[in-house]
Amino acid sequence: MLYGEKDKKWDKRYEVPIFGSEEEGMTVSKYKMAESGMEPRIAYQLVKDQLIDEGNARQNLATFCQTYMEPEAERLMAETLEKNAIDKSEYPQTAEIENRCVNILADLWNAPPSETYMGTSTVGSSEACMLGGMAMKFRWRNLALKRGLDVMRQKPNLVISSGYQVCWEKFCVYWDIEMREVPMDAAHLSIDTEKVLDYVDDYTIGIVGILGITYTGKFDDIKKLDALVGDYNETHEHELVIHVDGASGAMFAPFVDPSLEWDFRLPNVVSINTSGHKYGLVYPGVGWIVWRNKEYLPKELVFEVSYLGGKMPTMAINFSRSASQIIGQYYNFLRFGFSGYQEIHERTKKVALFLAKEIDKTGLFEIYNNGENIPIVCYKLKEDAGVPWTLYDLADRLLMKGWQVPAYPLPNAMEDTVIQRYVCRADLGFNMAEELVLDFHDAIQELNAARILYHDEGENKTYGFTH
Ligand SMILES: *Cc1c(COP(=O)(O)O)cnc(C)c1O
Repeated sequence: MLYGEKDKKWDKRYEVPIFGSEEEGMTVSKYKMAESGMEPRIAYQLVKDQLIDEGNARQNLATFCQTYMEPEAERLMAETLEKNAIDKSEYPQTAEIENRCVNILADLWNAPPSETYMGTSTVGSSEACMLGGMAMKFRWRNLALKRGLDVMRQKPNLVISSGYQVCWEKFCVYWDIEMREVPMDAAHLSIDTEKVLDYVDDYTIGIVGILGITYTGKFDDIKKLDALVGDYNETHEHELVIHVDGASGAMFAPFVDPSLEWDFRLPNVVSINTSGHKYGLVYPGVGWIVWRNKEYLPKELVFEVSYLGGKMPTMAINFSRSASQIIGQYYNFLRFGFSGYQEIHERTKKVALFLAKEIDKTGLFEIYNNGENIPIVCYKLKEDAGVPWTLYDLADRLLMKGWQVPAYPLPNAMEDTVIQRYVCRADLGFNMAEELVLDFHDAIQELNAARILYHDEGENKTYGFTH
């Protein structure tokens, strides 16, 4: 007997259309696990439907995070979801793939072959920045103790531009570091190299240079910073180092502007992080960090896991996670090669330049970034634009067509300036961008013609339709 009379009920249930099923007809248990389960097809539909009114990822120009991968990459990643990246012993080939990626990045960032670089994958740049920051802190303390500095007299500090991404604030809070912000001003919109050394003292664990300020897309002048740090180190016992937060730029600049010196070609740049899920073109979350020499990664931060009967060093904060993003990263490296990344990124840059030009043509906006360095377009409304609406209203209008384009105030010292930002990614094709420009013009026309629609003056960061 294959099944009993009683079991037949289950067969029948499967014939019930999803939208005729009992489960679909009642409220799901939301905050407490239901007593019993349901058929997979119904659970699938219910979860899918729960997500139905979320934004369309491809039209989300608020994020740097990747929203498209090739079907082969998706298949490969789906097929490797169960692999645990930390289990080097069970998955030695996955460990080898991670290792290859670290080497590829070290080469891309011009790590001198004469030095023993080290690196690891992470969940994203946030974890990578934590590691970079901790390495600087531990190394600073070891050296300071050797020099006889009273390391308990005051908190160690980190120097960074006020355009930092929030992960650095987290780093400073978690590890009890004083964050010294070098204020951005309208002339710079990146780290002020005239002033940066004023923030440094014997308790400075390092300076963070940002390759791609999240707010504006501007690059800190890392070359200048390196020269300043070099001079400082010649005349001080305390040794300053630079960590480059290249979350967005470190996977973009090497392809589009290879002659720009911001990486390990500069002697005082000791570590670099990037987000594989930004211009590394992988779905979230994967990040990377590389130290130019293992000297800059104090051994207290290196742990060992077993690997093929031996030991392998690990320095990530997280333990278990799927290796599929690492595998997706390697797929991209193999699939695109240097010239592929270059072509994709140059195309994206062209789209950004095109958008900036079209926006500029309206005469209403002052462009802060036209997509020159990384493909970010940002602008503010001109003081004399003479329109009654704000960038928040424009954001709302664009959202009606599905485009998510945020407006927000700049950070400390410039918080009175509200800007709007488009992050162009590889999957914002030229034809899509043309549609966006049409929608942008329509939005402005609608706003100009509308009678009551705008936010009150002074309103900040509220999204939602006002009419
Ligand atoms: C996005 C970003 C981060 C954080 O990266 P995640 O990969 O999202 O953790 C850190 N720094 C900068 C400059 C960024 O743009």
